[in-house]
Amino acid sequence: MTKSKHPETIVLHAGHRKDATTNAVAVPIYQTTSYQFDSTEHAANLFGLKAFGNIYTRIMNPTTDVLEQRLAAIEGGVAALAVSSGQAASALAVQNIARTGDNIVSSTDLYGGTWNLFANTFKDMGIEVRFVDPKDPEAFAKATDAKTRAYYAETLPNPKLRVFPIKEVADIGRKLGVPLIMDNTAAPILCKPFEHGAAIIVYSTTKYIGGHGTSIGGAIVDGGNFDWEKHAERFPGLNQPDPSYHGAVWTQAVKPLGPIAYIIKARVTLLRDLGAAMSPFNAFQFIQGLETLPLRMREHCRNAQAVAEFLNGHPSVTKVIHPGFMEGEEKRRAQAYLKGGLGGLVGFEIKGGAAAGRKFIDALELFYHVANIGDARSLAIHPASTTHSQLSPEEQLKTGVSDSYVRLSVGLEHIDDILGDLRQALDQATGAKKAAE
Ligand SMILES: *Cc1c(COP(=O)(O)O)cnc(C)c1O
Repeated sequence: MTKSKHPETIVLHAGHRKDATTNAVAVPIYQTTSYQFDSTEHAANLFGLKAFGNIYTRIMNPTTDVLEQRLAAIEGGVAALAVSSGQAASALAVQNIARTGDNIVSSTDLYGGTWNLFANTFKDMGIEVRFVDPKDPEAFAKATDAKTRAYYAETLPNPKLRVFPIKEVADIGRKLGVPLIMDNTAAPILCKPFEHGAAIIVYSTTKYIGGHGTSIGGAIVDGGNFDWEKHAERFPGLNQPDPSYHGAVWTQAVKPLGPIAYIIKARVTLLRDLGAAMSPFNAFQFIQGLETLPLRMREHCRNAQAVAEFLNGHPSVTKVIHPGFMEGEEKRRAQAYLKGGLGGLVGFEIKGGAAAGRKFIDALELFYHVANIGDARSLAIHPASTTHSQLSPEEQLKTGVSDSYVRLSVGLEHIDDILGDLRQALDQATGAKKAAE
């Protein structure tokens, strides 16, 4: 029933109507590690993937299952896998199809943690990541060879907030047999990557999906729209007998259940072996967050738009970075891929450089100074002195961070209070108030 419904409805209803034994309406927290088998035959069928059911919470849990079903339904995917963090989601999403000696092609516009994973840890594991500028989608084609296993990008990457050309790159990948993995963390509800040809979506549920800032988590959603069999030579792990699962060939083994080879393999091999499972309690927290996600995204977007306009007209601000203030191809991409709002993130450059940027952060009273986004509360950070401080000034500029850049994750407080805090902090940081007095 849920696939045809709207996101506002799906987040409240998909995957759970009432608890099977208690009729509880809220999704119960099944805080258990294991599950009693009905018989030895039942147990054998579960392990043999002949029947689906609960075995052990490292690989599945009834509370987590509802979260997974809701995320899959929102995206129009076939199935999802919840994991312990956004970092685990991006790592497993790639490791599920790339091995030592393989490569992936990634956008340069990445979350810092993902950048480190790709540039250093994957390199140590023998997976090469080729970084290309998404300005030119053809750069993905040029970097592709017979060992390329995936394209990877973020929908709305900060700090540059340049929306990624999803369809353009997905189309290139489909011609060459390469699936596009989209990190949609900054634009849930606003962007539906599967509608534009992406094959896999990853989330840090820590951010907007939770919204309350209480829990770390992540998810991988399988679009079920990529033909792994057609490109069997690129994906031996999905098309050849898997020695870690008594010779199962994933594209064949789960065919009767739908096009879920990719996500099943991730669950029953990678999650089984690497163990980055989400706790049932955190799954419950994300289910609570998800219930209001469509409403919250609307308000985040509205407040962020108002903040961007306020900053654009402020004499102490030299530049505003927001999809609403972009031009040309960047503007077109924002309009093509974000629906119902341009996201909750706003960047700006303040007059007076790094010193003013730091002063501004210290002067904030309502905004929290944290390395996070997507919280219901408004958040701010000065990347040059924090998240990007390990980079050289040249590297900082390449990632879009000047020394006067400030990033805001605009929250759900009343817009007048948000603007009031920004106004007084800008005045303090640039001495505008003193001059006016
Ligand atoms: C935070 C974040 C991640 C990592 O998520 P964690 O839950 O912190 O591990 C990945 N991608 C993006 C875009 C993020 O903002």
